Amino acid sequence: MKIICIGRNYADHAKEMGSNIPTKPLVFMKPGSALLVNSKPFYYPEFTKNLHYELEIVLKISKNGRHIQPEFAKDYYQEIGLGIDFTARDLQHECKEKGHPWEIAKAFDHSAVIGKFVNLKTATIDGHLEFYLNKNGEKVQHGFTKDLIFPFDDLIVYVSKFFKLQKGDYIYTGTPAGVGPVAIGDELEGILVTPGGEKTLLNCAVK
Ligand code: MG
Repeated sequence: MKIICIGRNYADHAKEMGSNIPTKPLVFMKPGSALLVNSKPFYYPEFTKNLHYELEIVLKISKNGRHIQPEFAKDYYQEIGLGIDFTARDLQHECKEKGHPWEIAKAFDHSAVIGKFVNLKTATIDGHLEFYLNKNGEKVQHGFTKDLIFPFDDLIVYVSKFFKLQKGDYIYTGTPAGVGPVAIGDELEGILVTPGGEKTLLNCAVK
């Protein structure tokens, strides 16, 4: 299993980071040891003083494939969920400044929080999904998939040129604007808006 992540996939988030809007998907990975499942608590790591949440829609890959063509991309994901791409922003800035890889800022243990999944058919209306993050009950991020720079199918096509997609892999599809710090004691709640109503898919307590 691998965790593939897409950076700067919403223009408003690229802007808040002072980054250019990418012309190709920006891809990085996290190892399996980064996963945090079943609403287990997240323990604030000692190596950062500026840990940020990034709420993202996560695709669960449903079958193996490489060099996937656009017309078949939808066959490769049937469930979506919400995840948090925890980021040590201070370390990430250091890595970026030096031109170094940013794994220590993005791929550390439990940096990939993942919640529950729903079947895509029950969750989507023509690909227009809405999702948001509450921090201690207050809405801090609000995303709409119509604003994706590279929609889900484009990501499947692009990523599978380089990496064989395997059943059970995850793709974190990028975060909208509103990223910010967490502190010990914070409660994060990720909500997906579906035709059947709002579904809380993710809960994460920072300890
Ligand atoms: Mg991210």
